[in-house]
Amino acid sequence: GTRMSQLYTEEDPLVVLSSSSLKPAVGGSSSAWLVQFFSSWCGHCIQYSSTWRALAQDVKDWQLVVRIGVLDCAQEENFDVCKEFNIKFYPTFKYFHAHSPETDRGTSYRGADREIQSVRQLMVNILQNHTKVDWPDRCPPLEPYSSVELLPLLGQRSDHYTAIIVEEPDSYVGREVVLDLVQYSGVVVKRALSSDLPLLDALKITTFPSVYLLHPNATHTHLHVQKRLRFFFSSLLRTLPGVQRKLKSTTSTSGVLMGALTDQRSSEPWRDFDRSKVYRADLESALHYLLRVELATHNTLEGEELQTFKDFVTLVAKLYPGGGSVVKLMETLSDWLLSLPLPRIPYQAVLDLVDNKMRISGVFLGAELRWVGCQGSRAGLRGYPCSLWTLFHVLTVQHEATPTALENTGLEGETSPVLQVMRRYIKTFFGCEECGRHFEEAAAVSVEKVQNREDQILWLWNQHNMVNYRLAGSLSDDPLFPKAPWPSPSLCSSCHEEKHGVHVWNHDSVLLFLRQHYGASNMSPMYSM
Ligand code: FAD
Repeated sequence: GTRMSQLYTEEDPLVVLSSSSLKPAVGGSSSAWLVQFFSSWCGHCIQYSSTWRALAQDVKDWQLVVRIGVLDCAQEENFDVCKEFNIKFYPTFKYFHAHSPETDRGTSYRGADREIQSVRQLMVNILQNHTKVDWPDRCPPLEPYSSVELLPLLGQRSDHYTAIIVEEPDSYVGREVVLDLVQYSGVVVKRALSSDLPLLDALKITTFPSVYLLHPNATHTHLHVQKRLRFFFSSLLRTLPGVQRKLKSTTSTSGVLMGALTDQRSSEPWRDFDRSKVYRADLESALHYLLRVELATHNTLEGEELQTFKDFVTLVAKLYPGGGSVVKLMETLSDWLLSLPLPRIPYQAVLDLVDNKMRISGVFLGAELRWVGCQGSRAGLRGYPCSLWTLFHVLTVQHEATPTALENTGLEGETSPVLQVMRRYIKTFFGCEECGRHFEEAAAVSVEKVQNREDQILWLWNQHNMVNYRLAGSLSDDPLFPKAPWPSPSLCSSCHEEKHGVHVWNHDSVLLFLRQHYGASNMSPMYSM
């Protein structure tokens, strides 16, 4: 298969090709390919790698129909294959049609503009240049439909939504949205043109691009979007009720491991909740699980483990918003831990304290797990890991809101105490080892760049999105809560913008949103103790 090269790794959303994998990959493939032949010593290639990686991320959901690859011609084992493919300059872009013979050496793309938007449009053009015979297996039609084909669908029942994107002839939005939804079931996307007057008349469409939605129950309406951008259309269509990402088979075991981390009781009644709120019940359940299950696997705590546990308890005692039982319990625990001169403590002592405290003073932490915003559609999904993310997001926001909270705790000297404690906690105790390794790798390269409390909030948000990107469509993805860039346009439309045709975040809006969402006043006590 694939192997590491200097500029691109297996972690990137593209395929790292080599002399042995190139021909089998592109020859006879059910999808088209766009491969960048580069050289790891070429300065321009090095500079360009961030664009190529961003492109690959941008079209990651198209990979069933067109894949992005790279091949490093500077590696000795690749010399011959680069010669065979006639690569003379770096980078050279070559594309391969689906179902092309193994003898195909690809077609070079010589366009001067290599920006993400241009290359993405090139990919659409490559797909459209296929014939009926070599059409990529999973690629939906990209040509516009006409009113003659579309109007009879109005008023028909169906087992899926049909979204009709009506756009001007030179617009790529419709085709991009069609491709963005290739991996989703429950919705079919078709495009139509602004020149199709009978269609405009029948659907009363006057602005472009517009999306018109035919519901499974035979009703039909305009789809309202805050901004007429590809990201908004795709994101809204993906969140229609019943629309689901088709699961990809994954070689990662962490999805399975994560399942083992969450509680297995599935008979609980569903608790209705609001996605724009944070539930205390989830945070309490996180602490319950962490204290009684995750830490309880450690018979004794000593050295670094003990220190990490103490720091974690202190952090929660000082930053958990709204006071109440949780804070009292954590304060008691923290005082007790600090008063103990012992270099090691049996974990049973912690459990006894927690239980006693609950019995004597009525200070308690939920006696059971009760997921609300972190409910999964079945046992083994969401639950604990979801609540742990939530807890740490809340702590980063509270750390900014209460500047003096950590004074005299020994944690006040760190630039990003919440991240540092989280990092140590995840590394030391979090049951999913592979998750911990990934998180530590990310933290090791970039946590040093965090300079203040705002950065701390945004770093964790960004890191969480990186994990979401990586896990989208994997086994740990709950079909009811598919992993996607967060917050979605429906939670925060001002967070999303487009620059040169590429989705970008408005970081100021994201920060405002995070402060509000994870702030003390947005916590719902519903279903909590
Ligand atoms: P989660 O990702 O758990 O998110 C919980 C909630 O947080 C969401 O419902 C949403 O309301 C909000 N949210 C989502 N994104 C953001 C964001 N960017 N910023 C702020 N809030 C957000 N699983 C693996 O399979 N492999 C891994 O390598 C892996 N690494 C992990 C590392 C850490 C540190 C943690 C805590 C968990 C990790 N997991 C990993 C678990 C995985 O990230 C999810 O927590 C789990 O699959 C449950 O997913 P979920 O759908 O409940 O959403």
